[in-house]
Amino acid sequence: MVGRTPWSAADPPIGLFTCRTAMERDSLLVHNITVIMSPIATTANRQFVLASRPAGVPEESNFKLVETPIPELKDGEFLARAMYLSVDPYMRGRISQAKSYAAGVEIGGLMVGGGVARVVESKNAKFAAGDIVDVYMGWQEYVISNGKGIRKLDPSVAPVSTALGVLGGTGLTAYFGLLDVCNPKPGETVVVSGAAGAVGSIVGQIAKIKGCRTVGIAGGDDKVEWILKDCGYDAAFNYKTTEDYGAKLKELCPNGIDVYFDNVGGTITDAVFMQINTFARMSICGQISQYNNAKPEMGPRLLGMLIIARAKAQGFLITDYMARFGEGLAELSGWLREGKLKYREDIVEGFENLPKAFIGLFHGENIGKRIVKVGD
Ligand code: NDP
Repeated sequence: MVGRTPWSAADPPIGLFTCRTAMERDSLLVHNITVIMSPIATTANRQFVLASRPAGVPEESNFKLVETPIPELKDGEFLARAMYLSVDPYMRGRISQAKSYAAGVEIGGLMVGGGVARVVESKNAKFAAGDIVDVYMGWQEYVISNGKGIRKLDPSVAPVSTALGVLGGTGLTAYFGLLDVCNPKPGETVVVSGAAGAVGSIVGQIAKIKGCRTVGIAGGDDKVEWILKDCGYDAAFNYKTTEDYGAKLKELCPNGIDVYFDNVGGTITDAVFMQINTFARMSICGQISQYNNAKPEMGPRLLGMLIIARAKAQGFLITDYMARFGEGLAELSGWLREGKLKYREDIVEGFENLPKAFIGLFHGENIGKRIVKVGD
């Protein structure tokens, strides 16, 4: 902090103060002192690093808030400050030691994750201060990028936070996971688990656009009400208050199940398996009910159903579709513009609440895409 120091509450400082760290800024703000923080003067970056690997559902103590210096910008680079940071179920896999499709976060390493950030300083001719970018920056306030593969966002097209949801990874997951993996046909019955989440709420609407009958499974009466009313699901049920999933699915899918979009796995998926039609297609997108298990949960052995129904179950990763993201984004934004697609964001305020917001995903706290708002 530059100014008259040391100082006390009884003898508060006056004049213009330039803070170098967020902690210094906060210590001034409690005393109602106006602080102008020049981004260029900022030299400290708040980050969440992995403190320990969770056993079961992650806890706040698994993460540690640290401050690190922001390095000097080199030619060709820009510095951006986070506006929104994403929390997503896949991060559970990144902080575990189990085999996965991507490298995990080391103890002491920066938590991974997508972000929307505003450029505050640039030595890259393609990016100027004020530009808003979609950048995989991790759980930190500032990022330095060389601009490669970075998407500039236009706030006049849609709120920039949608780059983390409906016009970003989760929207694209719904789009390709449903259309490419399952190829749904008009009149078919599409069942979606995790139906009120970021991916599931969009899957149901795309299936409706394609002329399908949609049935959603979600963990709350408020969630069921929302997907029926706003996402146009034809039927839905709350799995937390339903005892017999099989009986409920029979009631809601009188013509059987042609397409299943699986976000959760476990006993919900077991029940769906028993009701699939001949030539059913199943998109195995996520298995969140299993992510916190130390050992795989033993279930009934249902793969024989695939033979009986000559059905297909296919896992997929959205990153495999990177070359086609442009096509998916064009279609999703077209549907948004035409009012055919609705989305909901579940915004948690404050950088310091990132771990809490993430952990809440495993307790079903969110409706729609959960995002943490960090700055403007
Ligand atoms: P969501 O917005 O759906 O949030 C997670 C939701 O999962 C919670 O709100 C909760 O909803 C549900 N949930 C949590 N624990 C359980 C449980 N034990 N049993 C059943 N449901 C549970 O997250 P996303 O939409 O971002 O992700 C959905 C799924 O898709 C995840 O499994 C994720 O890993 C996967 N995914 C896969 C991708 C890929 O490339 N294959 C890409 C992106 C996501 P509820 O109240 O209904 O229980």
